[in-house]
Parts: sequence; C-alpha cells; structure tokens
Amino acid sequence: DDADYRRLLQMFLETLGHEAVLAGDGSHALKILQEPDAPALAILDWTMPEIDGIQVCRAIREARKEPYIYLILLTAKALKKDIIQGLEAGADDYIIKPFDFAELQARLGSGVRILEKHAQLAAAREELRVQALHDSLTGALNHGAILDALRVELDRARRHKTEVSVIMADLDHFKKINDVHGHLVGDEVLRTVTQRIRASVRAYDSVGRYGGEEFLIILPDCDVSGCLNQAERMRVSLSKEPIEFQQIKIPITISLGLAASAHLDLADTSVLVGAADAALYRAKENGRNRIEVAASADFKAQTPSA
Ligand code: GH3
Ligand code: MG
Ligand code: MG
Repeated sequence: DDADYRRLLQMFLETLGHEAVLAGDGSHALKILQEPDAPALAILDWTMPEIDGIQVCRAIREARKEPYIYLILLTAKALKKDIIQGLEAGADDYIIKPFDFAELQARLGSGVRILEKHAQLAAAREELRVQALHDSLTGALNHGAILDALRVELDRARRHKTEVSVIMADLDHFKKINDVHGHLVGDEVLRTVTQRIRASVRAYDSVGRYGGEEFLIILPDCDVSGCLNQAERMRVSLSKEPIEFQQIKIPITISLGLAASAHLDLADTSVLVGAADAALYRAKENGRNRIEVAASADFKAQTPSA
C-alpha cells in the first residue's frame, strides 16, 4: 500500500522483463487476482487497509484458483510466528523488509520455476483428459464420451423443451475393404470417413466412434426433418468421391439410422440409440447407402444383454 515501494518494485520487475500490475490495497489486489487473466505471481504486503495480505492469501487458496498463483509476502513482520502464519495462510514464500534486490530476484526465479512446473502439469492433465475422451485412431469422441454427451444433450433438451436427434451410421461392406486392401488401409479409410462426417455436420453437433466402423452423431436442437437433411448431406458427402490412399481409389458408402427424441416423453439414451440402431438395421436390409428413420415401434426400452 506504499506508493513509493510500489513504483520501486514495478521498475525492478520491469527491468527483469516481467509485466507488473499494481494494486494499492488488499481488496484491489484480490479483485485483480480473481480475474480470469490474473497475474501468475503476486508480491503482497502484509499490512494493508481493509483486506490485509494474509486475507488475500487465504482467499486465493480457498478459491483453489487455476492456474495456480504464486504468492510472495513482502513484509516488515519478521518474527518466526509471523512467518509461520504467513505460510499457513497460503503464501509460497516470504521476504522480510527492508529487502535485498538480489534476494528478491532469486526468490522470483524460484517462483517462476514452480509456475512452469504447474503449467507443464496442467498441460499434461489436459492432454490426458482429451485422450480419455477421444478415440485414438480417428480423433472422434469414444464410445463412453459420445454416450455421456448424449445424456447431457437430452437433459438440456428436457429443460429447454427442444429436441435432440441422433444418427447411427455404419459403413457398408467395410470388411471387404480390409480384406482387399489390408487393415492399415481400412484404418486410413476410417480416419477420412470421420473427417467427412465432421465436415458435414454443424459445429455444435457431436461425432463419436460408437464401435468399429459405426459412428453415433448427436444433433442438438434438431427435429426429424432437420436431421434428415443433415443425414442426407452426410450420406452424399461420404460417397461423392472415393477415398484415395497410396494411389488406390476406394469407393465407400454408408447406411444411416435416424431417431429423434420427440418420440418419447422421457427419451432415455439407450432407447434413443436403440431406435437409431433399429432404423440402421432396416437401412442395411433395404439395400444400404440409404437413410431410415426410426418409427414409434423402434423406441423400446432396452433389455441389458446377459
Ligand atoms: P455391413 O454393410 O453389413 O455393415 O458390412 P460390414 O462389412 O461393414 O460389416 P461387418 O460388421 O461384417 O464388418 C465390420 C468390419 O469392420 C469388421 C472389422 O474387421 C472392421 N473393423 C472394425 N474396427 C476396425 C478398425 O479399427 N480398423 C479396421 N481397419 N477395421 C476395423
Ligand atoms: Mg458396416
Ligand atoms: Mg458395423
């Protein structure tokens, strides 16, 4: 809260290449530190009007803010019990005034090291989260994640009284592609198919790899006729051009089963997916490379298989 000290610290930090944001009291500091783009490290006085540095430390730690903010208390309070209280309140480090610039620089350096480790951990955690939800071959949502997404969309649709449609899509005679060209080519086809499906849907639709060569697509806020248009666009975009891989041209077609949540008062994920699956089965029976829409009779409570 001392203007001269603030200016001095600002100059020092800027000389070291940091960007400094200044706060003249604890509540201003807390406000800045709670913003989404908050500074990564804070140097806090202990004694300040209104909210003191200790309270700022406690508030930041209680909020468990991400990314982690490194907190340094800079204070004239030099007793061992003060230092203990400061660290217990959540400070990472403690510097006693009057302080030495070389010491502050060294302590800033250790703070930066810790923050870099935090950032690496956060990035690794995010990477794992993404991996856990996506199919590694195609990058589409995996079986569990697409069903979770459907549950979320059905809940939302119930609250907002909108509709959700789903498409179950299965490549036609895919086994033949593997048999003729080998599994690696088959894998490449699955990747390209995923890209084509994704390019044919809206940004807020979800695409999941339900099984081997089966895809489940969720279309929020979409009724049967809207979904039918989307499915037709998908069918055409998949079969329009053969997939080219290592000078081989592989023609592909896909069959699609479509089901909309409006058929049920309480559309349950498994009932909806089951209905789309029943419609897909008919699309296969009726000649493949086509779309079938689930009828009322297709919406049956699923009995778990033994
Ligand atoms: P239909 O038109 O009736 O759907 O015929 P299909 O040959 O596509 O269906 P079937 O279920 O008989 O065969 C699916 C094939 O998909 C069999 C399996 O080997 C292949 N497959 C499943 N997952 C993968 C994968 O990750 N990579 C490759 N290359 N093939 C896969
Ligand atoms: Mg198939
Ligand atoms: Mg299949």
